[in-house]
Amino acid sequence: MRIKVLGSAAGGGFPQWNCGCSNCSRFRAGSFAGGARTQAQVAVSSSASLWLLLNASPDLRQQLLSNPEFAPADLRSTPIAAIILTSADTDCVLGLLHLREFQPLQIYATDSVRRVLTQENSLFRTLERSSPPVCWNALPLGRPIPIVYLSNSNAAAPLCCRAVPLYGEFPDYVSRELRRTLPKEEAVIAVELTDGGKKFFYAPSLPGLSEGSKAVIGESDVALLDGTFWTDDELRQVRGEGKTAREIGHIPLSGPEGLFEQLEAPRTRRILIHLNNTNPVLDSGSPAHRQVCETGWEVSSDGMEIDL
Ligand SMILES: [Zn+2]
Repeated sequence: MRIKVLGSAAGGGFPQWNCGCSNCSRFRAGSFAGGARTQAQVAVSSSASLWLLLNASPDLRQQLLSNPEFAPADLRSTPIAAIILTSADTDCVLGLLHLREFQPLQIYATDSVRRVLTQENSLFRTLERSSPPVCWNALPLGRPIPIVYLSNSNAAAPLCCRAVPLYGEFPDYVSRELRRTLPKEEAVIAVELTDGGKKFFYAPSLPGLSEGSKAVIGESDVALLDGTFWTDDELRQVRGEGKTAREIGHIPLSGPEGLFEQLEAPRTRRILIHLNNTNPVLDSGSPAHRQVCETGWEVSSDGMEIDL
């Protein structure tokens, strides 16, 4: 299994266009010890030529054009064989609209995420114009299923995917009426991908950690995990107002009951992704970055590759 990080930042990217926080300002001034980052996007391949996308970021077009693996092999085609969605958040799904150019797509999502996208958002019906139209596949919770590629690209052995419920919230744009009818366990999931006995765990948003999800992470070889915020009150410290990290569905990295305190998983390679532009970890000269490295964690960056 080959894992490629196409984007490593949280929503807004780094620097964020309308943000004048210390990190973004120092980056613009050329005095920041760290690179620019596009919004979180991961691609996984079990064959040389076919790729599975984990979510579809708002920066997807730029990310695909920047990586030659995603170039079409002939007049009209794509090596993207399937897409798995971990939630209906705009940062996870907006990139689907970049893939609308009459391209047949295979999408895996929970039933609730599919309903939110296809019933609440008429814009996504643009994906139905391809021939054959977009194919939505249900992701059951807790049960591994093979990811089936499009009929013209099924030569590779399928990756196995298990959806792990994380009990987060549906996005704010989902109407209250629909939200009331949807099972909460289908709002935000992590995915465990298995290929040839190797396990990869992906959770760009971790609203909470159950003993069950900790065990799944502990059994994986590599885990790319939610590194959005360093502290619970990070946004309030920067803006003077706003919600806490936990209130918007992200366990902070540091502090009591933070991700580092809650998760041990010593045999798993643990890598942070989905880093918000305010996070001090982005600055490779910061005490926070040093602490991450000293505790055995890693920080992903755009273009990072992992071979499993
Ligand atoms: Zn900023």
